[in-house]
Amino acid sequence: MKNLKRYCYGPFPSRRLGLSLGIDILPKSKLCTYNCVYCEIGQTQPINLVSPEHRIHAPPSQNFRKELTSYIKYISKLDSITFGYNGEPTLNENMLDFLNIATEIRDEKSWLNNKPRSTLFTNSSTLYSQEIRDKVKKFELILAKLDVANDDDFKRTNHPHKSAPNIETIIEALIKLKKEIPTGHKLAIQCLIFNSNKKEFISNNTPKNINDLAHALKKIKPDIVQVYSIARMPAKYFVFSIDDERKKQIVNTFRDVIKDNGVDVRSY
Ligand code: SF4
Repeated sequence: MKNLKRYCYGPFPSRRLGLSLGIDILPKSKLCTYNCVYCEIGQTQPINLVSPEHRIHAPPSQNFRKELTSYIKYISKLDSITFGYNGEPTLNENMLDFLNIATEIRDEKSWLNNKPRSTLFTNSSTLYSQEIRDKVKKFELILAKLDVANDDDFKRTNHPHKSAPNIETIIEALIKLKKEIPTGHKLAIQCLIFNSNKKEFISNNTPKNINDLAHALKKIKPDIVQVYSIARMPAKYFVFSIDDERKKQIVNTFRDVIKDNGVDVRSY
């Protein structure tokens, strides 16, 4: 079949998602509002670093239904159908057209255990828009990025497009999203914390950033907080993973500040 592997990846075992089938709804070259130092799919080329207002019109081709059906046909157990992987998926104004088809195909099949949940990775930069939040909350699990909670760390770590909102606006958008998501759907905040071996480059693994993040998380009150680090080749050679001991310390700091058993804080 021509173009058989245009949209689907995997399924892959994922530490945070279980067995996950990836869906990429963006063009082949990464399109993102950020250029994170640790990005595992390489640097965002200047032409592909776009404003959070930027939209692409890329509806699912007829092959999407065929391709996903052909993948799912041979899988009897799956934990997640996961949108993401090649940049910021909310930039595609047709995201829900893909989700509707994926949900239809998923619901038609009989699964060995529970049916896989629909999951979205977002970098949170577009969530200030009510229109985007209304789309995002259709996913059963939203994995929203927040690695930093002050503008200096934001600029250094995520290198946002110049039109991206400031970090306070992003945190406010996450607070709103948590209040708006329907019962049964979950918001997980992903905090990727890393080290730097370049003296002049300060990583996000500082007491100030961790403390600022903890207070932001307390306000957001997500269902889940995921602390993790670099696991593949990062975009910049001088950043590297924090160790497990540090992840545990960060988890403890977050729990101490959040003081809410309803927020499940874990490291991976
Ligand atoms: S938001 Fe995600 S895709 Fe975009 S640069 Fe950062 S890590 Fe890469």
